[in-house]
Amino acid sequence: RTVYVNGEYLPEDQAQVSIFDRGFLMADGVYEVVSVLDGKMIDFDGHLVRLKRSLSELSITNPLSDEDYLAAHRELVARNGIGDGLVYLQVTRGNPGDRDFAYPPADTVPTVVMFTQAKPGLADAPAARTGWKVVSVEDLRWGRRDIKTVQLLYPSMAKMEAKARGVDDAWMVEDGKVTEGTSNNAYIVKDGTIVTRELSHDILHGITRAAVLRFAQEAQMKVEERAFTIAEAQEADEAFVTSASAFVMPVVEIDGAAVGSGTVGPVAKRLREIYIEESRKLAV
Ligand code: PLP
Repeated sequence: RTVYVNGEYLPEDQAQVSIFDRGFLMADGVYEVVSVLDGKMIDFDGHLVRLKRSLSELSITNPLSDEDYLAAHRELVARNGIGDGLVYLQVTRGNPGDRDFAYPPADTVPTVVMFTQAKPGLADAPAARTGWKVVSVEDLRWGRRDIKTVQLLYPSMAKMEAKARGVDDAWMVEDGKVTEGTSNNAYIVKDGTIVTRELSHDILHGITRAAVLRFAQEAQMKVEERAFTIAEAQEADEAFVTSASAFVMPVVEIDGAAVGSGTVGPVAKRLREIYIEESRKLAV
């Protein structure tokens, strides 16, 4: 694989960053994951807007122009022959040359790393036909989940808990209400209304979420932005999650209880189709 490091395209075994990089020592960095379908980037502008917001919230200087980010995505997709897959982009505060809790001077050069992952048939994931099973876990993450930082240890622990319990993912719960999945936003459907938690510091502002809610409203579906409980989700007609890599993924079981019929419901199925079809048209 050819990867990108600070302006250079290199074979992955030749790519290097410093052991003093703040990303390595302190998880002081942010990331984005963009899906690629037919060699084109899905929802690219949205991901770029969020990247710049994450950087700004952490006072990390944005090292590249919008055009540079897009050009690097396209270059990596071309060099690696990606039809369907992902591009991972990470920007960390860089290498101050030593370890210190205080941020280094603002002119410290951020580290930019990008790589691709091939996922043939990404839009036809078999799991979308059977749906995911999830379990609930307590949400023990920090209080700024709206910033897409690389500190992903708790979501990794939650994913391992889900795997240990034989299911696909975990829904995190705080003060009795679902915040989100380990790497996706969570939804239920009840009597035709789509319910998902409102935006705040408690959840990541999903780019797929924004697009799916827009398409839902354009298709005259009702949308309610509010938090819901696990009990409410278990009694809903349908449930699903959204993310750049899973698109719209139905959820058919929560903590061992079937949601609705226990099979993929019509709203999740339709939203998945609309999302994939419409975003392909807007891909760059
Ligand atoms: N919530 C969390 C915690 C995530 O990590 C992600 C994506 O990685 C999402 C939601 C979905 O965001 P997006 O649709 O922008 O991929």
